[in-house]
Amino acid sequence: MLPCISIFHSVLPWWVMNGYDVIVVGAGPSGSALAKLLAASGVRVLMLDAEAFPRRKPCGESLNPGAVAALGRIMGHPHAEESFDFPHSPIEGWRVISGRASLEAAYPAGQYGVGCRRERVDQWLVEHAVRAGAAFEQRTRVERLIWEGERVAGVIARSPEGRPISLRASIVAGSDGLRSVVARHAKVNRYGSLRKAAFTTRLNGVSGLTGRVELFTPGGGKVIGLAPIGGGQANMTVALSHAHEAALAGKDRSGYVLREARAVPELMERLREAEIEGDIMACGPFDRPVLPHDIAGMVLLGDAAGYYDPLTGQGIYRALRSAELAAPAIVETLRTRSPDPIRRYGSARQEEFATGTRLQHIIERISRQPLLWRTALRMIGASSLLTNKLAIVIGDCPKEAKTCIPVMKSP
Ligand SMILES: Cc1cc2nc3c(=O)[nH]c(=O)nc-3n(C[C@H](O)[C@H](O)[C@H](O)COP(=O)(O)OP(=O)(O)OC[C@H]3O[C@@H](n4cnc5c(N)ncnc54)[C@H](O)[C@@H]3O)c2cc1C
Repeated sequence: MLPCISIFHSVLPWWVMNGYDVIVVGAGPSGSALAKLLAASGVRVLMLDAEAFPRRKPCGESLNPGAVAALGRIMGHPHAEESFDFPHSPIEGWRVISGRASLEAAYPAGQYGVGCRRERVDQWLVEHAVRAGAAFEQRTRVERLIWEGERVAGVIARSPEGRPISLRASIVAGSDGLRSVVARHAKVNRYGSLRKAAFTTRLNGVSGLTGRVELFTPGGGKVIGLAPIGGGQANMTVALSHAHEAALAGKDRSGYVLREARAVPELMERLREAEIEGDIMACGPFDRPVLPHDIAGMVLLGDAAGYYDPLTGQGIYRALRSAELAAPAIVETLRTRSPDPIRRYGSARQEEFATGTRLQHIIERISRQPLLWRTALRMIGASSLLTNKLAIVIGDCPKEAKTCIPVMKSP
């Protein structure tokens, strides 16, 4: 369980509340992984999240093999997912179905993804960060940045009791997701042109679940994703090509989502007995480009550092990987007082994700044109070389050992 003593019950002197090297805003995968790595390196870290944990997050809830491998590196032992104390399901690959065309791909031997409830895996990560020594305050919403000239020097947050609090640190890490307040206040993010929306939900009673993520693309820009998340449940995400289409759901989101999914011929029978568990979460739009920036005292990770489209399910990998890349840069910046390591982190992250991002744009564009899309699925499916290559890129499958360990202790 997470500690419940709040540093904001201000019997504490100001230097305890401000005695942090790094404030991590947001405790999703990028924030928790960063907090864990920094705390393990001796950095004094305070992580803040607006929500009470465990909290749900709209997501297809499948970690690709790259994300699973990153978890292993961050936790310091391979197969870290084996210590998940909650239901989860191995994922061996994916299948895309569009009318009579389909493409099925398996991850390379020995590599697999994992489907599980996001609130559980995110909570698990937070607990690891706290155990490594990071302080964590939930229900604490960051409202804006504190500036000292051109430099970010801390944040103004709202405590769980609604009091404004000013917190200072050498570095503020924006891990606060798609609608990052940190990026917005630094004026580096904007809305992109892609205006999609999605509903995500959990289903009981889906028949024929395989150990694969299934994507049904019936046309009209609609994508229905189905992934096993353990305990016999499936995550179902219905993505729509225009945010305004989501309004069609009106108040009856469950009815709308099930109707849309059952209208896909391949799903009609499989969803006959399916029932929705819990709330349906709506979200979108997703396209949030971030402008090149160089702001002293600030670093962005995960979705806050830029996001495009959930179709290929690579967001958790990128969140974890950005933490792996940022942690040693932050340690080095704290040690040397030079902004260069954080600058280099920005370029390294961009470079590492560039191929995947280009592919995401291509897939998104082609998937809007049913004829072209089906032809592409058939063509790629006819070549095992192409299919395997695509599975490796989209799965962020590690080719060689990547490193993540912060190299030295902070001063
Ligand atoms: C519909 C959909 C389906 C997806 N499916 C998949 C999938 O199957 N696989 C996959 O890998 N990726 C998927 N993604 C992407 C994935 O969910 C994200 O890329 C990932 O969660 C990013 O992690 P993060 O840590 O950057 O941000 P988040 O997980 O969004 O975490 C951000 C945290 O910051 C907190 N926060 C926000 N604002 C503030 C504030 N002002 N103050 C304090 N805290 C704040 C939030 O409460 C949250 O806990 C999907 C995304 C969407 C939208």
